[in-house]
Amino acid sequence: MRLQFIGCGDAFGSGGRSNTCFHVASEGANFLIDCGASSLPALKRFGITRDDIDLILITHFHGDHFAGLPFLLLDAQFTRRTRPLTIVGPKGIETRLALVREALFENSSKTKQRFDLRLVALEPKVTASFGAVNVTPFPVVHGESGGPFLAYRIETEGRVIAYTADTEWTETLIPLGRDADLLIAEAYTYDREVKNHLSLKTLEAHLGEIKPKRLILTHMSDDMLARLDALDYEAASDGLVIDI
Ligand SMILES: [Zn+2]
Ligand SMILES: [Zn+2]
Repeated sequence: MRLQFIGCGDAFGSGGRSNTCFHVASEGANFLIDCGASSLPALKRFGITRDDIDLILITHFHGDHFAGLPFLLLDAQFTRRTRPLTIVGPKGIETRLALVREALFENSSKTKQRFDLRLVALEPKVTASFGAVNVTPFPVVHGESGGPFLAYRIETEGRVIAYTADTEWTETLIPLGRDADLLIAEAYTYDREVKNHLSLKTLEAHLGEIKPKRLILTHMSDDMLARLDALDYEAASDGLVIDI
């Protein structure tokens, strides 16, 4: 299984990085995790065939995780996509997606799609299956607006990928990431505690309980990016490809 970081930046473009979007492809699965505002140009930059993507998992409705969808859907329509597409996210995804599509491209949410577009709202802690991909959402803590907030534990072809999404520390991150083949974790700051976000030091204090087989840090602010060379952790970069 191959995972590519299409974008691993925060909402502010720190380090010139694209907004969050990860692409996972294997024999039987092809999906995105999040689709931030800059995702379409980033997908094109890395040569990802958008037509092969069957599923998009959205963690929450902040623009750096969600606002790429209007562009992606418009592009799909104009490139005559016919393959069905499923977009999965927290409760309210149908309304939120229609709102952002209308805000960015008027009438785009009302145009008949050439392809079957299915929107699915997930309940926390209830596993849902999409073809070969089993997704368990965990509730996380990320403020008042832009939620509900979900982190995902994704199991496909015997491999587990866990992604914290944006969150401050919460105990649900332990079952989320426990023994995962790959844990992608927000490390927004090094040790400074910022409301609604996770610092590396806080994450580090719990790694013994989570015990991921591999950890990759993402969604880093300038504070973290400046320290990367001195850290003993693997960190995401736009375009980085991982074999899982
Ligand atoms: Zn974010
Ligand atoms: Zn966020």
